[in-house]
Amino acid sequence: MKFSQIFLPTLREVPSDAETISHQLMLRAGLVRKLAAGLYEWLPAGLRVLRKVEQIVRDEMNAANGQEVWLPQLQPKNLWEETGRWGVYGKELMRLKDRKDAEFCLAPTAEEVITDLVRKEVRSYRSLPLMLFQFGVKYRDEIRPRFGVMRAREFLMKDAYSFHADDADVENYYKKMVEAYKNIFKRCGLNFRPVEAESGAIGGSFSHEFMVLAESGEEGIVSCSCGYAANVERAELPDPSKNAPADAQGTPAYAEVSTPGATSVEAVAKIVKQPAHQFIKALVVLADDKPVMVLVRGDHELNEAKLQRLLGVSRIVKANEAAYTQLSGSPVGFAGPVGSPAKTIADYAIRTITDGVCGANKKDMHVTHVVPDRDFKPEQYADLRKAAAGDPCPKCGKPMDYARGIEVGHTFKLGTKYSDSMKATYLDAQGKAKSFIMGCYGIGVSRVVAACIEQCHDAQGIVWPAALAPWDLIICALNITNTTVMSAAEKLYKDAQSKGLNVLLDDRDLQTGAKLKDADLIGIPWRIVLGERKMAENKVELKARSEKDSRDVPLNDVLAQIKS
Ligand code: ATP
Ligand code: MG
Repeated sequence: MKFSQIFLPTLREVPSDAETISHQLMLRAGLVRKLAAGLYEWLPAGLRVLRKVEQIVRDEMNAANGQEVWLPQLQPKNLWEETGRWGVYGKELMRLKDRKDAEFCLAPTAEEVITDLVRKEVRSYRSLPLMLFQFGVKYRDEIRPRFGVMRAREFLMKDAYSFHADDADVENYYKKMVEAYKNIFKRCGLNFRPVEAESGAIGGSFSHEFMVLAESGEEGIVSCSCGYAANVERAELPDPSKNAPADAQGTPAYAEVSTPGATSVEAVAKIVKQPAHQFIKALVVLADDKPVMVLVRGDHELNEAKLQRLLGVSRIVKANEAAYTQLSGSPVGFAGPVGSPAKTIADYAIRTITDGVCGANKKDMHVTHVVPDRDFKPEQYADLRKAAAGDPCPKCGKPMDYARGIEVGHTFKLGTKYSDSMKATYLDAQGKAKSFIMGCYGIGVSRVVAACIEQCHDAQGIVWPAALAPWDLIICALNITNTTVMSAAEKLYKDAQSKGLNVLLDDRDLQTGAKLKDADLIGIPWRIVLGERKMAENKVELKARSEKDSRDVPLNDVLAQIKS
């Protein structure tokens, strides 16, 4: 391809509304453009990368005996009603009506559609196991679309679904898929880690997230040298008071203090001079619309997934101001368990507090010298918080490390969740109808592209791993009016193509600096520069994008050097 002809609009300036490096570089390198919030146009260079990821994923899905299908993006409401998800999915589901007023949604995922297909077509255990996958555009009306294609409202996903006759088979197959996923991300050249993920009401360790390690990642991961690794939401934490009971013998009786306008831990801490780990944060949440007061330590974060499981509810949301005030009797920021008639549930770590601080259930007032179980009694203590650096490993007890990651894939053993509710059955060897046992496996193909850039870049631009680069090689002809240079560049371009390389020929009439900047920005693994002076000695300049220095190489040997 010739740079002068391709639609590859690069930008010098950093776009002001792009917060993350990958978002900035995807815009600057001419990979994507924004249409509206969470909606992106993929330009030719971007699409080349996307297709490379797609092909790697497809290879590995085929190798895992998957069969590719194409499912509609428009999905009828009645299927979603069968599983109850038309209601549960909430506002993330994009809903619409056709001309006859029939209701549909735009696919955010496809469990319903695939289960419907299989229940209609697969009758016998003899047809199992069966794995079907697709590359499909997905729609999710994210609350906060951000970071470019990383959290978009329309994105490309590979979704795969497997159907099995028994538990042993799905578990075996699940392991195979985890291996396939590892192959995929390895082949993409990514530094990643599979971690145990929250598997909701189903429980067990049959959900894994595949995290690309990056500072900008939205997910927290804890890991241990013993090999355990989990999402901070998943990692189970023990009751610390079991080994080290807190000693509050010398703590005086609790007392109210005035804390005008101080509604955060930091603000109150300044007034009462106590560290965050002595704070009792009282959060009011709605558990399936019922208000509940939950206590976590000032330096900890509530894990809604754990709370949801403990209470056996399907939805936890932060209470609005009215519900907060009704339960606590105070404005937001001043709730607390001392003297409150509300039932409270406390995280285990609350028990480590020896001289605590909490809200007084009155405007502008807090209570100090609070001791749990002396001054208030929660209805229950439980593991309710997100794991953090230094927390003990649930497998071996050693302190864990913390890192941030970008979730690029998710594998899940579904069991019979969908087949039961949709009455999807097969006949076993005895002729008895049984629910299919299912697994599902997603990869955010478009998110992989952004995640890769988060990991693979420098101050000049993207540094593509060879497997994902839009082109293998860029040839820069410095002076296009010089016929010797230009004809050598054209010849090299053809030779490289005939050797199977994907080549971009920079034949634009631009300053040298501008051309080299673009080559670095776009991040093509190899660059050959042809200039008048070196051409006189029959030499060209060869540079790997990942290396600092270039070297002079004989023109007739340069492609062989790249190939090797
Ligand atoms: P997240 O926690 O990031 O919202 P999710 O748990 O909702 O992800 P899944 O339903 O498991 O995601 O979807 C499978 C994959 O699709 C994810 O692992 C991720 O790579 C990708 N994905 C999910 N939401 C988006 C989005 N809004 N934009 C781009 N990719 C996404
Ligand atoms: Mg999501």
